Amino acid sequence: MSTRVIPHWINNSPQHDPHNSTSPVWNPATGEMQAEVVLATGSVVDDAVRSAAEAFALWSEESLAARTKVMFAFREIINSRAGQLAEIISDEHGKVLSDAAGEVQRGLEVVEFACSLPTLTKGAYSDQVSGGVDSYTFRQPLGVCAGITPFNFPAMVPMWMFPVAIACGNTFVLKPSERDPSASVLLAEWFAEAGLPPGVLNVVHGDKVAVDALLDHDDVAAVSFVGSTPIAQYVHGRATVNRKRVQALGGAKNHAVVLPDADMQFAAEQLAAAAFGSAGERCMAISAAVAVGAEADRLMEQVDAQARSITVGSGRDASSEMGPIVTPESRDRIVGLIDSGEAQGAEIRVDGRGLVVPGYENGFFVGPTVIDRVDTSMDVYTNEIFGPVLSVVRVDDVGAAIDLINSNPYGNGTAVFTNSGAAARRFVRGVHVGMVGVNVPVPVPMAFHSFGGWKDSLFGEHHVHGPEGVEFYTRAKVVTQRWPESGMPGDASFDMPTAR
Ligand code: NAD
Repeated sequence: MSTRVIPHWINNSPQHDPHNSTSPVWNPATGEMQAEVVLATGSVVDDAVRSAAEAFALWSEESLAARTKVMFAFREIINSRAGQLAEIISDEHGKVLSDAAGEVQRGLEVVEFACSLPTLTKGAYSDQVSGGVDSYTFRQPLGVCAGITPFNFPAMVPMWMFPVAIACGNTFVLKPSERDPSASVLLAEWFAEAGLPPGVLNVVHGDKVAVDALLDHDDVAAVSFVGSTPIAQYVHGRATVNRKRVQALGGAKNHAVVLPDADMQFAAEQLAAAAFGSAGERCMAISAAVAVGAEADRLMEQVDAQARSITVGSGRDASSEMGPIVTPESRDRIVGLIDSGEAQGAEIRVDGRGLVVPGYENGFFVGPTVIDRVDTSMDVYTNEIFGPVLSVVRVDDVGAAIDLINSNPYGNGTAVFTNSGAAARRFVRGVHVGMVGVNVPVPVPMAFHSFGGWKDSLFGEHHVHGPEGVEFYTRAKVVTQRWPESGMPGDASFDMPTAR
């Protein structure tokens, strides 16, 4: 039987290009290659951008009511078929079905946010700024926007971008991760079914070749990127030089600080869920626990117990709490970093290396791993492991914990566990991090707030979705107008205009 090939989606139809090379799409639980995805050449990207540019002329002129109607219809389709989307995510990414359903729900909430765009894009009007003169500001779409997205949220991260961009009147070319590309194509099909005209949302698959073609294309006005920090920095630099508006969200090393006055059982349960949920392949996963003061040993015993109790298996098995790693290369990288922690003198308290899941012997599994007595020079601390590995650093007090976090180059998310309002307030105000949780380990903002980190976790000014997403995908125009009545005295002057 020939291998299934996942096509591009251009102008509301699937595009197969027999001349393109392909990349494998694994089933990470079974270790089998379940499909191949085509990798776009520059000319395929050009087709998609041209289709989007042509569609922009019509879509940007559609009424707010017409755009919103399509958005509501799209919302209904996703809502009624969420289970189908979650299954595709689980099969290509590996995450457990309930976690995939949570990802779909979080993406759906951005679509719901985008349904309220008419309210969010209302402008401002000042009457009589000068005699007979009024002034108003309104926002207009940018044109063709591009999105480049990572493997770890194959539906949610694209939905952080394209619903907001499209509701604002832009058209969109999405380049999803080549590791789990099917969710994007399905969403584009559903959007077309909801009434989205051809060319408004296009999906091109690919690697660096496709990304560079988007970054260099004269007709792309803005680029949204989410992925690892080196690529985020590269995308930001190249697209900025090409005079595009850019938001590029990068990687993370998220610390959770547990103060001695915290409820240790609660903190241990939350830490384990935040470190090992989705096999640690979340940009908001807690990858570094900071155990403060004399209660550290008690905390660690409870964290170990939690880590050992997690059921690892296929994402499709309802009893699984954690699935496999996305590719064999990622699995090997994670195991190599655990090896380095051991070699550099850290204490491996719970070891997930070599885990074999019965019935899934060829799957890409790594079990929950807890590494204690990590210091900031070790590779397990300096690298974003992006796997089910919790590194534990011990410090004496909350001030040292804040200093540790602020010395780290990343600034995506962080959390503090405490029963002290004063300590929590000091922490919240003192950390140089974009998203902070108080007794909440994964503080992912709701769709009506904006999501984004600081420092090496974001290149560019704008966070995604929420009010900053609307700002990113539109630009302001300020109009100063008067309608002279007959007989009005002229005020033409060679001086700088001032109000009268
Ligand atoms: P990645 O950087 O490898 O890939 C992201 C995208 O960039 C993909 O579409 C990929 O095809 C493309 N790409 C890869 N190499 C490229 C190159 N050399 N030139 C141009 N494009 C290239 O990231 P990933 O492994 O898919 O995802 C995991 C990373 O994403 C982690 O670092 C994680 O922290 C980060 N992430 C960040 C956020 C956030 O909100 N800050 C959210 C999700 C994931």
